[in-house]
Amino acid sequence: MDDFILNDKETVKKLKDKLFFDNKNILLLRNEEILDEVNKFAERYKKFIDKAKTEREVVREILRISEKVGFKKFDKSRRYVPGDKVYKVSRDKNIALAIIGEKGAENGFKLIVSHVDSPRLDLKPSPLYEKNELALFKTHYYGGIKKYQWTAIPLALHGRIVLKKGSELDLIIGENEDEPCFCVTDLLPHLAHDQMNKSMNKAINGEDLNILVGGIPFKSDKGSELVKLNILNILNKKYKITEHDFVFAEFEMVPAFKARDVGFDSNFIGAYGHDDRCCAFPAMYAMFETIVQPSTSVAFFVDKEEIGSEGNTGMKSTFLKHFLADLAEISGVKNRQVLSKSKCVSADVNAAFDPNYSENFDPLNSSYVNKGVVLSKYTGFAGKAGASDASAEFLSYMRMVFETDDITWQVGELGKVDNGGGGTIAKYVANLDIDTVDVGIPVLSMHSPFEVISKLDLFELFRALGAFLATY
Ligand code: MN
Ligand code: MN
Repeated sequence: MDDFILNDKETVKKLKDKLFFDNKNILLLRNEEILDEVNKFAERYKKFIDKAKTEREVVREILRISEKVGFKKFDKSRRYVPGDKVYKVSRDKNIALAIIGEKGAENGFKLIVSHVDSPRLDLKPSPLYEKNELALFKTHYYGGIKKYQWTAIPLALHGRIVLKKGSELDLIIGENEDEPCFCVTDLLPHLAHDQMNKSMNKAINGEDLNILVGGIPFKSDKGSELVKLNILNILNKKYKITEHDFVFAEFEMVPAFKARDVGFDSNFIGAYGHDDRCCAFPAMYAMFETIVQPSTSVAFFVDKEEIGSEGNTGMKSTFLKHFLADLAEISGVKNRQVLSKSKCVSADVNAAFDPNYSENFDPLNSSYVNKGVVLSKYTGFAGKAGASDASAEFLSYMRMVFETDDITWQVGELGKVDNGGGGTIAKYVANLDIDTVDVGIPVLSMHSPFEVISKLDLFELFRALGAFLATY
């Protein structure tokens, strides 16, 4: 046995640096000069999410910006050369951007997928009613929400209505300060004795998330439902809508406030719907600004993740699969051969470790704000149920990507085992025989009307996705 000699502090530090997997704040690892770029990117992001709050609006905005930087509608009959930029839109709720790579699809595609829907309150097909001389809208909430968080906050109406003769009308009401907004009322604490003794899940019923939309009756000395009549009269004068037309609409109620900086140091952005626009936005700019892309790259922005990716605008639809087949075909390769060689980053958020709720997290396997992008090997619920589990080999590829470009990254699992869990669209891409892993950023207060992310993490994701596209 060696003599037992106490090592000095310096030796211990050196050995720890070598052997420990320690995550540090991005600013401790990189030059403070990045702050200028970080802040510029954050301002562009804030503008984007203020402008595009629903899946239709995000798709419309991505399309507008993409066309501006030279993307053209995909046409299978055309001949494409490396560097050509194309897009394909599905039902105004999905958009795929592709850039033909130097090597085409020969070695598989580079894919980044993210979702553009966020939790909210959807109007029911027949929403308007009057009760006790107040006009209200019935809603059916969309996605996983804590219902109490959606009462007593300003809401705006966003959506599309298709009028009788087929004309489409896109409406946004309640975002500007000079127009009215809407809200769900809540019971005053003085009278909430019974409500406060209920579990959080039962305190507000889904059926009670009704939206206050008016109170002035139509001028008449007799008649019932005169407030409802007045509201319909206002809507009809302005938009030619009748009560029947609501059936042919998709109206969503979303928080009416804008993205704001949070903290004395403005480290954070608080906003509605970071999940998953804080990944979609960096994905879009990684496509635009990554100069050399060896393989044909595809960024796909998809709807319906928050309710299980079902239907023809969700990730389970065949839209992406067929688009990839077309891209393979124009490259002269067989889709069956190209998919298994492709690599995909499913860009979605993870739960940030929250000191207020630390008992719900495993500190070793949680992601932390300001510590960079989160690599999530798997998602799922108790016992990894429903998980897409990226292989050690593919993770090792991602490590190489991150290390080459000095990307700050960390691991993350969604909370403690048996505490719940969640899924992303990763598994639906992986089901196509494509190596897929979740990479995103940590979010505080996820799925609340005011989610919080770090500007440093947001910019780091843009860099990470760019590194992924640039790597052979
Ligand atoms: Mn998400
Ligand atoms: Mn989500």
